[in-house]
Amino acid sequence: MSNQLEIVLFPCLNDNYGFLIHDNDTGETVSIDTPEVDKIVAACSERAWSLTQIWNTHHHADHTGGNLDLKEKFDTKIYGPGSVKGRIPGLSHPLFGGETFRLGTHAVHVFSTPGHTVDHVIYYVPDAKSAFVGDTLFALGCGRLFEGSKEDMYSSLKKISNFPDDTKLYCAHEYTLSNAEFALTVEPANDDLKNYISKAKELRALGLPTVPTTVASEKKCNPFLRAISASQLGEIRAAKDVF
Ligand code: ZN
Ligand code: FE
Repeated sequence: MSNQLEIVLFPCLNDNYGFLIHDNDTGETVSIDTPEVDKIVAACSERAWSLTQIWNTHHHADHTGGNLDLKEKFDTKIYGPGSVKGRIPGLSHPLFGGETFRLGTHAVHVFSTPGHTVDHVIYYVPDAKSAFVGDTLFALGCGRLFEGSKEDMYSSLKKISNFPDDTKLYCAHEYTLSNAEFALTVEPANDDLKNYISKAKELRALGLPTVPTTVASEKKCNPFLRAISASQLGEIRAAKDVF
């Protein structure tokens, strides 16, 4: 497994996912967001990994609630959005989008994806063909527009759809089956969507995650990613808010 990144996924809280990325060469271990300290610590210690970094996507408590405890326990660096000061507990490496940093030898590209919050960022790791998209995109869905505009979210989703088709998208919540019901109201005749939903139902019936999804599947099935304008995206988002 030399020169490879291992990615681990585990459920946290009600419907969040925790993710670890481990670089075998350097021993660095990253937690994407910090939904639940105990689960993150357990996932590390099961593998004899020591947490060295946190990469936050946005400031909501289900994404940053464990920052300070983990920083105290492991002395981690904390990367995260810096555009709104004071929002990310323990932030040591503020990001604004457009940066590239490295995990061992592996490039990590940071994109600003406002919409759900104004300061949301996502992390794209080409060597792992993976992107950690927080609450910007969900399988068959997208984040609620708490702070940003539909124009913001439209251009943020475009950034995700521009990643290669085989990019795995690690979204922060298991919302797929409830998003599926809404997606069917938008495109009742989409056969790719129907196939996607039956696979997702099988996985959930076995207690398995539907995350990660891929850029290719979302481009075929996700009504928010398929919107052809910011105004259409806004209409779909508004309909979903009251669905
Ligand atoms: Zn959120
Ligand atoms: Fe969240």
